[in-house]
Amino acid sequence: MYSQVVVNVPVLYDRVFTYQGEAPLGSLVQVPFGNSARAALVVGHSPTTDIPDEIKCLGKTLYAGAVWLSSELLSLAEELAHFYLCPRGAIIDLMLPVPFAAKEVSGLKRVKRAPVRLEETLTRHAPAQLMPEQIEAIEQVKQALTNGHAKPHLLYGVTGSGKTEVYLNAISIALSQGKQAIYLVPEIALTPQVIANVVHRFGEQVGVLHSGLSSGERARAWQKVLSGESQVVVGARSAVFAPTARLGLIIMDEEHEQSYRHEGGVNYHTRVVAQLRARQQGGVLLMGSATPSLEAYSSAERGGTKLLQLTARPHGTNLPEVNIVDMREELRQGLSGLLSSPLRQAVALGLQAGEQALLLFNRRGYAQMSLCRDCGHIPTCPHCDVSLRFHAGVRLLKCHYCGYSMRALGECPRCRGQQVHNRGAGTEKLAEELRALFPDFLFTRLDADTAARKGAHQKLLTEFGRQDSHILLGTKMIAKGLDFPRVTVAGVVDADSGMYYPDFRAVEESFALLMQVAGRSGRGTARGRVFIQTYNPEHYCLRLLEKHDYSGFYKVESSLRRKLSYPPFGGLATLCFRGRDQRRVLEAAQAVGELCASSGAIVALGPVAEAPARVKDIYRYQLTLKAKNRKTLQELLAGLRVRITDLCSSSARWYIILE
Ligand code: ADP
Ligand code: ZN
Repeated sequence: MYSQVVVNVPVLYDRVFTYQGEAPLGSLVQVPFGNSARAALVVGHSPTTDIPDEIKCLGKTLYAGAVWLSSELLSLAEELAHFYLCPRGAIIDLMLPVPFAAKEVSGLKRVKRAPVRLEETLTRHAPAQLMPEQIEAIEQVKQALTNGHAKPHLLYGVTGSGKTEVYLNAISIALSQGKQAIYLVPEIALTPQVIANVVHRFGEQVGVLHSGLSSGERARAWQKVLSGESQVVVGARSAVFAPTARLGLIIMDEEHEQSYRHEGGVNYHTRVVAQLRARQQGGVLLMGSATPSLEAYSSAERGGTKLLQLTARPHGTNLPEVNIVDMREELRQGLSGLLSSPLRQAVALGLQAGEQALLLFNRRGYAQMSLCRDCGHIPTCPHCDVSLRFHAGVRLLKCHYCGYSMRALGECPRCRGQQVHNRGAGTEKLAEELRALFPDFLFTRLDADTAARKGAHQKLLTEFGRQDSHILLGTKMIAKGLDFPRVTVAGVVDADSGMYYPDFRAVEESFALLMQVAGRSGRGTARGRVFIQTYNPEHYCLRLLEKHDYSGFYKVESSLRRKLSYPPFGGLATLCFRGRDQRRVLEAAQAVGELCASSGAIVALGPVAEAPARVKDIYRYQLTLKAKNRKTLQELLAGLRVRITDLCSSSARWYIILE
């Protein structure tokens, strides 16, 4: 008997190697490879082989021959490697719950499940009666589940319209049909309430896969899914690979979220993987959002996806009133802090009435940069091309890319000048202002700094949920999925930096984020009020947001996108080049650019340095390739990748992000 195996060596792309001997499909084995032993995953068996060379034997089996990947996942890996032009071994590495290494991780057997203390974050329980639109959506999903092999479904429902109830009911139906369900959330740490709801509803049948698990816990949770003991899997994007043999339903909550995009050696979008899996196993993909991605909504427009809608909030409360605050006017009237007068007044009124407020400022730290007014020096990171950010509480200048930090002594490190000026505020500075403005009230700051310690994130949210504090302020961590009924005022300190970020999806992302923040207010009985501060009040993103007009936004944004042939209306690939020697990385990228441009049918732009151009001492360049459609790019790059690897040789590591 012969076994076909895949090893994790990127330049081998899709190659499969044959060895003599047999080990279970989907198990890990050691194999002699070159002059060392490597881990390999068994992907096939055959009684004979036509390979003429002498064939080596499999080495020892790892984890006693335990099966990690089902045959469905093995063919999914093959399909994805082809679709995204990435090495099959690298995809398998992402799928595996244990390291793809020739040595076993010990201690997998002795695992204790950490007690889940989610009850505290649970805000409400199942509602007594579903709304007609919810019933209709559930009915549609039920039909799809019963018939199998359905189109993807998109649940487009305004914030607070009760999408979660639809998901939970859909899961119940799948379970009653003896099928498993995967419930995907954008980031597990940011959505404790969702997990609490699922665990509360389905108890012991739920397996949670998240990055906080140790190898042992992860492996055990994985095996429970494989054995069918866990019927419902909740997790972030990697849970889309959960080994559910009887997969009936995949839920993708907040489908538009950027965290569903995986970047690095392998680049995939969870929506695409979920769609492939659902098709492969005859399951239903149910995506949900208040601001669907252009990809999902345009597919619904074309009829490739079934659209389900929730147009109102169940309590009959109106959507919040959105106020766009013109900061140019505020400045003329002598604005002195981060908060405009309308926002300040609304917060004050709300707090006096015993309500809560939520303030988004999508930058952490105290200041963006420190400038010496004597000599002009701006401290930068020695390893990255960025200025260091001032953190007042710990008196440190920190790099937000590599974590480098240095003491901030209040004087210029170059000329010893005393006039160090901190420019551009962050959450820490906002907290300081709030303390001065509302001395009688307490607040909770939630950002990567305050949430760094294990369990801190949960603790901070619980504190706010119990109304131990009155204002929740923070980065976009506070914008997602939270359901605090006493929040009536939501504010966005700076809407401009997001909208003008140099990325073709920047406006789409801003619209979604602002809508999410707005949706955090007025979820109880009192109507919410939202204040969005900007120096560009006439921007279409804000004008349409003011009217909660997602479909208007979709129209404008999709026509702009179509005009420029950006996805989903054209093919786009980014080739990323990484290396320590700046000149050699750039030269390699240039050579590849010329090669691609000479192939016709595509436009090659660049190479350009990425922002920042250097991170952790690695230089970063990228080429952008555009073509009429995705297929053209995929075929072209599939044909060129061996030559591209040759051109890069030892100068640069490279990978493809194919949209
Ligand atoms: P979404 O995910 O659409 O933003 P949620 O699922 O968080 O909204 O629901 C918002 C709130 O409405 C939750 O507190 C939920 O318990 C409540 N809710 C959902 N469905 C109903 C219903 N049929 N009747 C009353 N309340 C409901
Ligand atoms: Zn750095």
